[in-house]
Amino acid sequence: MISVDDYRARMLAGISPLPPTTTPLLNSLGLVVTEDIVTSRPMPGFDNSSMDGYAVRSSDFVGGAGEVVLTVVDDLAAGAGIGVTITPGCAARIMTGAPVPAGADCVVPIEETDGGASTVTIRATPTPGAYIRLAGEDLPHGSLAVPRGSIVTTRNLALIASCDLSAIKTRPRPRVVVMSTGSELVAPGDAVAFGQVVDCNSYLLAAAAAEAGAAVTRIGPVNDSFDEFTAALEQHAANADLIITSGGVSMGAYDTVKEVLTARGGVEFLKVAMNPGMPQGFGRVDGVPIITLPGNPVSTYVSFEAFVRPAIRKMLGHAALLRPERTATITESITSPSGKRQFARGTLTGGDRLEVAPVGGQGSHVIGGLSRANCIIVIPETVTEVRAGSSVSIIDLRADDDE
Ligand code: AMP
Ligand code: MG
Repeated sequence: MISVDDYRARMLAGISPLPPTTTPLLNSLGLVVTEDIVTSRPMPGFDNSSMDGYAVRSSDFVGGAGEVVLTVVDDLAAGAGIGVTITPGCAARIMTGAPVPAGADCVVPIEETDGGASTVTIRATPTPGAYIRLAGEDLPHGSLAVPRGSIVTTRNLALIASCDLSAIKTRPRPRVVVMSTGSELVAPGDAVAFGQVVDCNSYLLAAAAAEAGAAVTRIGPVNDSFDEFTAALEQHAANADLIITSGGVSMGAYDTVKEVLTARGGVEFLKVAMNPGMPQGFGRVDGVPIITLPGNPVSTYVSFEAFVRPAIRKMLGHAALLRPERTATITESITSPSGKRQFARGTLTGGDRLEVAPVGGQGSHVIGGLSRANCIIVIPETVTEVRAGSSVSIIDLRADDDE
């Protein structure tokens, strides 16, 4: 048996970040930028008003309090070009975002005036620079807006668009083909005869891969037939960056994934010291990386988290491949097999002081328990029993659920 960490390291050694491509801006959300994004002009691009009001000369207000009456010589909406130069005794009506005209050095908000159209009476003593947003005060021309290696978020999308870019260089979404195998499987919605099983893994894996940032193609159940599986594999390898299969990698008869890939070569099947999810395989098919997961749905999910998600993140160019582990207090005692890392499912509550309750027992078929879980409890290889009230390591999955 190989440890989880050694297996993951070996598998990841065969996975490379995908070459950068040009990505339309909105498609880049969550992707890693591979170029420095630099402002192409000052931001803001010109001195402009931060209020609806009047652009005036502060020198017209020397002498302090009282009312000042000015002649209105221009009317500037946002988008206005170069306005009339403001000379002593004059003002321009100005809206938020409009360029401040030459001669004016401050803006008086409309609330402090009578709102006049040809002349305006002003009841304030403005100071130079008041209510003017200066060119470049946010970011000067040529400044580094988003450094290479950043992940595109909603917030920096606004900045990238403001840098006048409609597409940027990023690592692309890996094209991940998800394939469930098993002659007992039927697609949801189809007639289910006695002994047949509804395919849930292809949905589970497709959703998990999409959540991890992949562009997913889901293939419905493929029979445990050497020829059928071979044909499906060859067809889909042509358009994939990564293939994920579920089922057919155990020690039994009809473990077709293992049979086919062992015959072809290029894929290694190993027993990983983990529970659930012991039988695993990885390698390449027609040059395309493949990860073969065991078929029990909980094993499939845990294996995805342990191995496939890090592989997808590596292809995406992320620096952090693993979710962080945190500490929680466990509310019930649980046992764990000696020599294997257990990934138990748990329900996590609390913020700073986390509590976790095991859910769904330890069966790798317990889909109901999986659906109630929002974390994975990680019990080290050397630990065989965890008592209620003690601290355990957990992987918090709640962030994905909030998205
Ligand atoms: P296998 O890994 O192919 O030996 O499958 C182990 C168990 O998981 C069997 O009980 C299968 O019926 C079940 N199983 C395999 N694939 C799926 C799937 N896609 N959806 C639901 N159950 C599955
Ligand atoms: Mg099977």
